[in-house]
Amino acid sequence: PSGRLEVIAGPMFSGKSEELMRRVRRAKIAGVNVLVLSHSLDTRSDLSAITSHDGINIPAVPVGDVRSLGEVARAEDYDLVAIDEAQFFGPDLVPTVFELVERGATVIVEGLCVTFDGEPFEPMPTFMAVAEDVLKLTAVCTICGRDAVFHQRVGTPGLTAEGSEPRATDIDASHIGGLDSYVARCREHFAPTPEKR
Ligand code: ADP
Repeated sequence: PSGRLEVIAGPMFSGKSEELMRRVRRAKIAGVNVLVLSHSLDTRSDLSAITSHDGINIPAVPVGDVRSLGEVARAEDYDLVAIDEAQFFGPDLVPTVFELVERGATVIVEGLCVTFDGEPFEPMPTFMAVAEDVLKLTAVCTICGRDAVFHQRVGTPGLTAEGSEPRATDIDASHIGGLDSYVARCREHFAPTPEKR
C-alpha cells in the first residue's frame, strides 16, 4: 500500500518548524510510529532536536546526508517520517523520499522553497508538485507587516571557507538562520542585492 507525501514550505520565519512539530506531536498522541529526521548541519540547536525560532523543540535523529537518512528511515517500519529543513539535503533527497512513500509511509518534508535570492530552492518545488498535501506558509514582512514570501540576508554576511560569499543554494551553515542574519520580506520590500537596498 502506498503512503502519502505532505509538504510544509515557505521562507524563513514562516512557522514551518512549528507546524511540523504540531503534526508530530499529534501523531505521537495517536500512537503512530514516528521518526523525526534533521540535517546534522543545522547547528541552530543541539544536534538531536528540531528547534523553532520560538525556542520550542522536539527530539530528532540527526543525519549528515541522504544515504544515512535512507538507512535510518528503512531500519524500522515507520508510519510517519518527518524531515526538517529538507533543503539541506539537496535534490538527491527526492528519490529516497519517493521510495519511503512507496513503501507505505506518510512522509512530511518541511523546508525552504525559496533561496535568499528569491529563487526556487530544490528539492522543495519538486515535492510541492507531486504531494498529496501542500501547506505553503508566509512570514511577516519586517518592514510593513504584510505576508512575506521571501527572506533576505542582512548585516555582514559570513564568508565560506574559501573566503567567498556563500551562494544562495549553498548547503552550509550560512543558510541556518537567526533573527540576526536574515529577515522576512514581502514582495515590495524584498531587495536581495545590496544595490537595491
Ligand atoms: P520556520 O521554521 O519557518 O523558519 P519557525 O517555526 O522556526 O519558522 O518560527 C516561527 C516563529 O518565528 C513565529 O511563530 C514567530 O514567533 C517568530 N518570528 C520571528 N520573526 C518573524 C517574522 N518576521 N514573521 C513571522 N514570524 C516571526
